[in-house]
Amino acid sequence: MTDEPTIHAVPTQYAGTLFRSRLEADWAHTLSTNGTTWQYEPETITLPSGTVYIPDFWLPELGTWIEVKGPGIPRAEKTAELAQTRACHCARECTCRWPGGELVILGRTSLGPLPGARGHRPTCGYANWETPYGPSAYSVTCPACRRVQWITLRRPWRCRACRNGLEKQPVYRAVDRQLRFAEATSGLGSAFTMPDLGSPFTDDTGATQ
Ligand SMILES: [Zn+2]
Ligand SMILES: [Zn+2]
Repeated sequence: MTDEPTIHAVPTQYAGTLFRSRLEADWAHTLSTNGTTWQYEPETITLPSGTVYIPDFWLPELGTWIEVKGPGIPRAEKTAELAQTRACHCARECTCRWPGGELVILGRTSLGPLPGARGHRPTCGYANWETPYGPSAYSVTCPACRRVQWITLRRPWRCRACRNGLEKQPVYRAVDRQLRFAEATSGLGSAFTMPDLGSPFTDDTGATQ
């Protein structure tokens, strides 16, 4: 890749929430930019294996979990178990609250504007994701409610929020670079909080000795 160092877990403040890493804050900002309601670590889940797991994001309108995993953390057994557990298990027609059951996405470090482009930072560019279990997820925008979301290509193809049909909508893989990844931690309107270093120089320094 580039000569950028891999992302270290730097606790980062965004939208009144302290995230464990910059990448998580950037995912929150990306979701907010798309008008997606998110909750950060809202639930502690005990998986069937007995493992206790706190997924990063729950999207309550979309019935979707997002676990953010940087490049140095490729393994995602807990996330895969959550995905398997919460996926649709309906014998016939799906009667889940969300079409196809709850969806679980792995949020990755963003894709650069162009493959091999020099100098791009790992958190700029386009959203990058995978599924930890089951079929691939594609991004799609509902024509009725305009919500950006992820779906699999299993039928029925319905908006996870409003249930509108999505049959004629274009769907995109991450590598298609259609979903912009918004950086929360630099530039104008930055949500990054600099450490308090105190006042720099004062006029009365050394005034009385
Ligand atoms: Zn179902
Ligand atoms: Zn919709």
